[in-house]
Amino acid sequence: QQNAETLGFQTEVKQLLQLMIHSLYSNKEIFLRELVSNASDACDKLRFESIDNPDLLEGDGEMRIRVEYDKEQRTITISDNGIGMSRDEAVKNLGTIARSGTKEFFSQLTGDKQKDAQLIGQFGVGFYSSFIVAEKVSVLSRRAGTPETEGVLWESEGQGDFRVAPAEKADRGTAITLYLREEDAEFADGWRLRAILRRYSDHISLPIQMRKEDWDAEKQEQIKSNEWETVNQANALWTRARNDIEDEQYIEFYKHIAHDFEDPLAWTHNRVEGRTEYTQLLYIPKRAPFDLWDRDAKRGVKLYVKRVFIMDDAEQLLPNYLRFVRGVIDSADLPLNVSREILQESRDVRAIRDGSARRVLSLLEDLAENEPDKYTQFWQTFGQVLKEGVGEDTSNKERIAGLLRFASTHNDSSVQDVSLSDYIGRMKEGQDKIYYVTADSYAAAKHSPHLEVFRKKGIEVLLLSERVDEWMLSFLTEFDGKTLVSVAKGGLDLAELADEEEKQKQEKVAEEFKPLVERLEKTLGEKVKSVRVTGRLVDSPACVVVDEHEMSPHLLRMLQAAGQ
Ligand code: ADP
Ligand code: MG
Repeated sequence: QQNAETLGFQTEVKQLLQLMIHSLYSNKEIFLRELVSNASDACDKLRFESIDNPDLLEGDGEMRIRVEYDKEQRTITISDNGIGMSRDEAVKNLGTIARSGTKEFFSQLTGDKQKDAQLIGQFGVGFYSSFIVAEKVSVLSRRAGTPETEGVLWESEGQGDFRVAPAEKADRGTAITLYLREEDAEFADGWRLRAILRRYSDHISLPIQMRKEDWDAEKQEQIKSNEWETVNQANALWTRARNDIEDEQYIEFYKHIAHDFEDPLAWTHNRVEGRTEYTQLLYIPKRAPFDLWDRDAKRGVKLYVKRVFIMDDAEQLLPNYLRFVRGVIDSADLPLNVSREILQESRDVRAIRDGSARRVLSLLEDLAENEPDKYTQFWQTFGQVLKEGVGEDTSNKERIAGLLRFASTHNDSSVQDVSLSDYIGRMKEGQDKIYYVTADSYAAAKHSPHLEVFRKKGIEVLLLSERVDEWMLSFLTEFDGKTLVSVAKGGLDLAELADEEEKQKQEKVAEEFKPLVERLEKTLGEKVKSVRVTGRLVDSPACVVVDEHEMSPHLLRMLQAAGQ
């Protein structure tokens, strides 16, 4: 064959292939879901590109996915009439993994199969899952709008390399043929394939077609006819009524759009009517994506306009602090040719963002109240991200504050499960402030000398030790009418909590130590602002505090470390 080339897989692809075959043997049928999902994405992309360039449709605008099989040959073919791939696209898309952070991700692999299998779920396997059941995969593709002679044939056994060669293809799109391993021959079966498609791909909005089959009583086997039939519901899941959707369908739809292996933790599905109209189906994942803290990582939801796919990762549709949310928003108002730039300025988009943020917060409030275990799981995974919302989203600050969870002297454990309302509910007679301490670690916070007097008086203190906390607290000065106060700041007024006898004692002590204080002030001179007798220590003789309106030592250290 002319111009045939053999090329090597990217190292990470080789690792992925190895790992996948070892870790997914008990879940083999997912290959079909992944391939159908890609076929559906390819049709979405073509529909979108054809808005500006109708010629791409080559006279055929009916997008569909077809699944065929041949028992004798032990093959399954999944074909679509979507966007297709050029030679270069096939080399890049089917030979490398383009996602940011891929290298770092693979460097975490330990060689321990069980642990690595967990990791892989977090990564998603996509196209390469074909090799779980296939000993050879061939992909015949042609990009929409290119000549019939410019197709590409990509083939591989999933070992170290793959071959690409020019090929002819009459119709646009992609046909993927799996040559099944002997032990996986069972998948080349009409019943089996239909059952898998209904289970995993029913939510796909395009028709998935298979050849009609009839039972031939004489031959005692299924006979395929030339007619096609649609085996899924073929309407967009989010356009259906909530009551008509089963949890299983919501879950599979999530896996399709989020490229996640795990079930979601929770979701919310609503049609919003009024000045701006849109449907939102938003999910909270169970696990953080490996690139949650990667600034360049993709985030955001899928945007549709009147059921036409417009773009992935529309980040303008949700505030940044909800970047872990996945899902679909389908707007009835935005123009089909909306660009990322237009999204940034659109008033409709702002309305959608505000509405979606409120929905997600309601979902979280609902979890916190009714499914505390799930909420704990959420908090452990995404709590640090949600904290950013306190500074970022002024209009929802109080609600976000209500969702915060802290470690506290009340539990003597590093688990963050105390809400500000819990704290207020336990406040002492006469206490009108919420006390907290910040430090570099939970242990440092817990052993802070500033806590002594609080321990003695039995007053609870929140223990904060995450990087984002100081920044967050600069926005969160009050909750439910109670001021938040750092125990490390000056002017700590515990007087109203002291009884008469104690007050008199303190005054007497202050009088007695006046000469010492004066001597200390003189000796320390410029180094300190003032020296005071205090009731805040129990066991330690002295401590340094900052003025109420000054930066805490912890924040100071953080800024210094950041070179400020
Ligand atoms: P993902 O779907 O998460 O991008 P996959 O491994 O499933 O990852 O697919 C890799 C890439 O291969 C896709 O992003 C797409 O560019 C390309 N691709 C896969 N299947 C098809 C298809 N049927 N038609 C066109 N492109 C495809
Ligand atoms: Mg995919």
